[in-house]
Amino acid sequence: MATATSPSHSPFHAVDLIRWKCDGGELSDAQIDWLIAAYTGDEIAEEQMSAFAMAVRFCGLSRRELESWTRAMINSGERLDFSGLSRPTVDKHSTGGVGDKITLPLAPLVAACGVAVPQLSGRGLGHTGGTLDKLESIPGWRASLTNEEMLRQLEDVGAVVCAAGPGLVPADKKLYALRDVTGTVESIPLIASSIMSKKIAEGAGALVLDVKVGSGAFMKTQDSARELAKTMVDLGRADGMTTVALLTDMSVPLGLTAGNALEVAESVEVLNGGGPPDVIELTIALAREMVAAVGRDDHDPADRLASGAAMDIWRSMIKAQGGDPDADLPVARETDVITAERDGILRSLDALAVGEAAWRLGAGRARKEHAVQSGAGVQLHAKPGAQVRAGQPLITLHTDTPERFAGARVALATAYEIGDSAPEEQPLILDRVT
Ligand code: URA
Repeated sequence: MATATSPSHSPFHAVDLIRWKCDGGELSDAQIDWLIAAYTGDEIAEEQMSAFAMAVRFCGLSRRELESWTRAMINSGERLDFSGLSRPTVDKHSTGGVGDKITLPLAPLVAACGVAVPQLSGRGLGHTGGTLDKLESIPGWRASLTNEEMLRQLEDVGAVVCAAGPGLVPADKKLYALRDVTGTVESIPLIASSIMSKKIAEGAGALVLDVKVGSGAFMKTQDSARELAKTMVDLGRADGMTTVALLTDMSVPLGLTAGNALEVAESVEVLNGGGPPDVIELTIALAREMVAAVGRDDHDPADRLASGAAMDIWRSMIKAQGGDPDADLPVARETDVITAERDGILRSLDALAVGEAAWRLGAGRARKEHAVQSGAGVQLHAKPGAQVRAGQPLITLHTDTPERFAGARVALATAYEIGDSAPEEQPLILDRVT
């Protein structure tokens, strides 16, 4: 049966493929290639792809279908080539979490170990912040580079964090926007193929995945996070890319800050030899995985952090993209402090609520075209396990627009608990998936 959006010369019809997938059928490689190419070329309608994505959400994709789907997504655009660089390349991807600023200290740290780190990053949507939004709080820093500029910076400095160009997996740009508004983000094959198509097209030699688990993450349980991690690791391997994943806790925010300039300042503290223990632990753990993945574990990242070598590369990396590493970071015009209501031990602090409060204060955006406030966000004065006293500051809210304080306080109203006993200790690194 031909439809208005399946041209009569096309070999397949979208409606047939939707029905077949809904009935639990498997698509052939040729059908998958056609579906992705036709959707990217605007030859099939958004509502048809939306129905197909929903069918995948319910019926899944077989391993062969998933590999074929991911390959078709990669083939929708360009593939970068770093083979001309004098050092090996390794990339890191986090599935996103509250206060996750790890890319900022990690990229220069791994570069300080003799490995090139191309980090094509995005802007934030919803409660998790985007790496580009964070770096854009540094005066002068620019996210857009040409492929030639990126290659030159990788050769000269060793690390680059920049925006992915429009030519990289255009199929995902359309499909992710569609999934976002049709309740079809929450599908392990669609998440895995979306992430891995971009990471494979970016062309690094190896990839380390940080798959977050907990209230502030996409994946709320260890079982679902492990399944996502294994699916992505297998996709990377199938394409010949060394791929490893760590499962890490995101029930509590990472570090003591959530918000763009606040997170840059905390990352600089880490590069200066200070900073919160969980941010240091995860940065070093991921750096060790990254250097090992390309056989460069002759340098221990912990030593390169302590020696100041990573800080030197951070400064060069920021300057190479027009930023001033010595400039004062933006500070929000207004602050509001939430204090402890009683003496006791902080037993919990919910990552999702902190992310939502930061977002309500102006650190994140509700729609892609919205601007973010660089100085806005949440600063934590205690993490679970800490002893607190009545009246002591627990959380400082930062914003340029004080009418936002009320919404942030609502988000945080049930976000933490002060009790009489210490909470059970939760490791930050929960598992390693290969
Ligand atoms: N991040 C992505 O890039 N894609 C998804 O589907 C989910 C998170």
